[in-house]
Amino acid sequence: MKLSRILSNQNGISRRDANRMLALGRIYVDGRICRDGKREISRFREVRIDDNILQRAEPAYYLMLHKPAGYLSATTDPVHPTVLDLIDHRLRPHLHIGGRLDRASTGLLILSNDGQWSRRLTEPRVKIPKVYRVTTENPVTQEAVERFAEGIWFAYEGLITSPAILERLGEREARVTIYEGRYHQIKRMFRAAGNRVMSLHRERMGDLILEGDLAPGQYRPLTREEIDSVA
Ligand code: URA
Repeated sequence: MKLSRILSNQNGISRRDANRMLALGRIYVDGRICRDGKREISRFREVRIDDNILQRAEPAYYLMLHKPAGYLSATTDPVHPTVLDLIDHRLRPHLHIGGRLDRASTGLLILSNDGQWSRRLTEPRVKIPKVYRVTTENPVTQEAVERFAEGIWFAYEGLITSPAILERLGEREARVTIYEGRYHQIKRMFRAAGNRVMSLHRERMGDLILEGDLAPGQYRPLTREEIDSVA
């Protein structure tokens, strides 16, 4: 919400008074004077007039989880354990998943309560590279490399996937980089190229990299730098 709206709509201050207080430098956002009434203010920021708090900052959570196989990327499920079961129960009610992984897939999973932030990770328009290691049933062919680069027709969505990079690492092993995140995208791309994914592990989303020191099932908060990298 715009700062001017927080001041006038929510707190019964007239537009004129709000503009005056902004101009006089009496409005603070996270402890710093803000004179720009047009600035978008999320619920994670504190807004004050002088020493009076108008909006308390809600805590924002940004977590990186090493998803093990067998856990659903969902918040609840009557049958299978979900990735939320791996997280401190106090945080669970707040979190959603930024870019799901299939139940059998492993690797980098992001959890947050900041929807605006996590949408940027997954929106095809933003073009954040997502990097996966896969093993396949059949050999990875040069033809598949070319098809991935050209884009593959997804009949259900009625679109051609953005150019993807398929690097062969072994006869039946590859690294794939995609710039969108459609339903079962990697598996469907391999299927379209006459192959089948046997295992899938997400290594990276943009600058968010799953390092070796985070064992399957473990998680950690993102650093400020990592959070700001998703801009
Ligand atoms: N693509 C898939 O097919 N599965 C995943 O879990 C992620 C991307």
